[in-house]
Amino acid sequence: MNPLPVVPTADGGDYPPLSALNDLLFCARRCFLHRVESVWVENVHTTSGTLDHHRVHATRDVDVSGTRLARALPLVSHKLRIVGVSDLVEFRPNPNGPDFPFPVEYKRGKRRKWDNDDVQLCAQAICLEEMLGVVVPAGAIFHVKSKHRRDVIFTAALRKKTEDTATRLHALLATRTAPPPVLHPKCKQCSLYRVCMPELLAAPAAYRKAAAKLFKPE
Ligand code: SF4
Repeated sequence: MNPLPVVPTADGGDYPPLSALNDLLFCARRCFLHRVESVWVENVHTTSGTLDHHRVHATRDVDVSGTRLARALPLVSHKLRIVGVSDLVEFRPNPNGPDFPFPVEYKRGKRRKWDNDDVQLCAQAICLEEMLGVVVPAGAIFHVKSKHRRDVIFTAALRKKTEDTATRLHALLATRTAPPPVLHPKCKQCSLYRVCMPELLAAPAAYRKAAAKLFKPE
């Protein structure tokens, strides 16, 4: 069995976290408010999610039938210019070479209609490939509430979407203006709903005009 790899220190100290990709695919405005304006509002979903991640990270690394489990593994990709911490990486034995890393991301809710979780997981795989020099073909999302584990194959299309999202993220973070709100049913689930007030856009013209001015720098 190979020893656990030595993980290089993330020297990209100013790289955004992997979760920003997830945020961006959910809503560009939410991503900007979180990452550039440091606006963070806790709600039951964000707190439960944070506690789930802490619980997973605090569990001891163990061997399960030859598979080593590494929790809270620091990740970095200089190609995507992103850093993060994995919930769990299973190192599956490979008789012909280095163990296969298999990342597992823990999520509280059900599978979302937007494949933002898959992009976040794929970004972890790209980090592991870059750090360890191996191919990571698949990983899994573990849905904490339903205890359902769903395998995700890192197809060429998903890898391309992940790279494109990272490019969009860096472009967004380089701008100085928050994208305007776009009222959508998913806004009701967003912890920033009360701060963002997206319904202003659906309001009468005078409100819309005033709201539009708010997002235009002088
Ligand atoms: S309330 Fe809607 S528009 Fe505003 S940040 Fe959240 S998801 Fe985006």
